[in-house]
Amino acid sequence: MIKGDQKALQRVADNQVCAEHGTPLTVAWDALLSTYYLRCIECGACRATKRPVSPSTAIARGEANAVIQPGAQKELERRASSTTSAFNRLPKTDLGDNRALTLADAQNVIEFAKMVHLNAFLGHVDLYYGSPRVSIDGYYYLNSQMEKPFRIGCRPMTQEERTAYLFEDGAYCWIAKAYQDGVELPEDGIGYLSKDEYEAMSKKNPEHHRSPVSHNHPQRTAEHRAEWQLLRKLIPLEVGKNEQT
Ligand SMILES: [Zn+2]
Repeated sequence: MIKGDQKALQRVADNQVCAEHGTPLTVAWDALLSTYYLRCIECGACRATKRPVSPSTAIARGEANAVIQPGAQKELERRASSTTSAFNRLPKTDLGDNRALTLADAQNVIEFAKMVHLNAFLGHVDLYYGSPRVSIDGYYYLNSQMEKPFRIGCRPMTQEERTAYLFEDGAYCWIAKAYQDGVELPEDGIGYLSKDEYEAMSKKNPEHHRSPVSHNHPQRTAEHRAEWQLLRKLIPLEVGKNEQT
């Protein structure tokens, strides 16, 4: 059950859906516990929420057939590899040190993506301090290709959990959980963003934040990290098997 202040819960209900069922949420009152909570028409007391995905994110995550129309995924993947396409999400800079990717780096990212059955043009692989790394969308894509994809939900840590993990005040701490056939799996993902991190200023442009995305959406960054860690635990990369040409 996700409990809390009525207004705060309403904000979540306006922007998110039940992670297990993808259904819209409402804020309801539980007279017995005398608390507001998030209610799903399928499961009652919703256990975890997620944001509904935009069409371009759906393509990157391999979910276009469900979100756009049946058969859309394959065609949009083909189009993404054209450099002029709006869907082309080949990384342009190294996420670690921010330097622009060379042609060799880009080639490296494309090759690595192929090796692990992903598509670099859909943003499935980032370069991080010179090494290719599967992105959150890459893991979502691998998940969508599984016979029985995991349902992933995310929530802020409770005060108790924050204390147990020794997270300091001002840090954003989220926890991601996976479900299969309505059963919660034992693995979890922890996503953490410290105050120092989201308030850090850029060394090159001291009047700008080092990471404007983390600064403006710290909660989203922590959620992403939690989901990424969880999917990484659940989905091992299978290198080289059934090589595609
Ligand atoms: Zn539900």
